[in-house]
Amino acid sequence: MDYQKILENIYSEVLPLRGEGEQADYIPALAQVNPDQFGISLRLMDGRGFELGDSAVRFSIQSISKVFALSIAVSLVGENLWERMGKEPSGSSFNSLFQLELEKGIPRNPFVNAGALVLADIMLSRLEDPEGFFIDFVRTLAGNPGIDYNRNVAESELSTAYLNAAIVNLLKYHRNIDNDIRDVLRLYTYMCSVEMSCAELSDAFVCYARSNEPFSHGNVRLTKSQVKRINSIMQTCGFYDEAGEFSFLVGLPGKSGVGGGIAAIYPSRYSIAVWSPRLNSRGNSIMGMKALELFTTETSESIF
Ligand code: GLN
Repeated sequence: MDYQKILENIYSEVLPLRGEGEQADYIPALAQVNPDQFGISLRLMDGRGFELGDSAVRFSIQSISKVFALSIAVSLVGENLWERMGKEPSGSSFNSLFQLELEKGIPRNPFVNAGALVLADIMLSRLEDPEGFFIDFVRTLAGNPGIDYNRNVAESELSTAYLNAAIVNLLKYHRNIDNDIRDVLRLYTYMCSVEMSCAELSDAFVCYARSNEPFSHGNVRLTKSQVKRINSIMQTCGFYDEAGEFSFLVGLPGKSGVGGGIAAIYPSRYSIAVWSPRLNSRGNSIMGMKALELFTTETSESIF
C-alpha cells in the first residue's frame, strides 16, 4: 500500500474544509494559534513512518493528555481506580457539571474533565513529583526529551478555569478528591498544556497499538490487559459526546483534544495522529475527523 500517496489524496480531499469551524478560544492562549494548519503522521508496526503538512509543528495536546494520565493512574492503583469513576460513555460535553451532580460525584469515565481531575488527584496522592513524573513519561513514550508543558497556555487556562473549578469543587464535596482543589486543578491544567507534534503523538501512541506486548515505558508498567482496556475506553469515550459518531465514521480507538489534535490506533497495525485547530460544535477537529474517516475508508484498515 502506498501510504504516502494515500495521505496526499486525503490532504487534497480535506482542503475544501479549510476555514470551516473555529479554534477553541475559551482558553485565551489557544485563540492566538493560526487556525489554518493541518498535519498528519502515521506509524506502522514495522517502524515505517509517513507524514504530511504541519506534522512537525507542536500544538496543545489538551484532552489527549487524559490517555497518559489514565495510564499513570492505572499503573498506580490498578482496579481500585474504578471505585472512583465509571467507564461508560457520557453522551454529554467533556466539561458537563449536571451529570456529575446527578451521579453524586462519580465521573462517568476518565476522559471527561471530572474523571481526569480525579486522575490528577490520584497522581498527587501517590507521586512525590507528579508534574515531573508525567512529563518524563510522555517524553519516554514519544522518545523525545524536548517535549514540555507550555506554562503560558496553562496559566492562561487557569485564569479562566471557572467551570473546571466548579467541577473539582463538586468532586471534593462528594469526597472524591483527597488533595487541595487548587493543586488538583493546577496539575490537570498543566497536563493539558503539554505540546507535541503529530509526529511525536504518533510515536507515543504506537506504544498503545502494541497491545500484544507488556507496556513498560519509564516508570509506568501496564499489563497487556490494562492496555487493552485503556484502548477500549478510547473507543467508547475518546470523543466526548461524539464518541459514537467517531466510531461510526472512523472505526478506531482514539482521543481528541480542543487544541485540534486527534491520536488514534489500530492495535497491532498502526498509530495515526492528525491536527488542525478548527473545531466542530462538539470540540473535535473538523479536518482531523474527516482525514481519519478518509484514511480508514481508503485503506480499509479500521478495526471493524
Ligand atoms: N483543558 C481543557 C479543558 O479542561 C481540555 C478540554 C479538551 O481538550 N476537551 O477544558
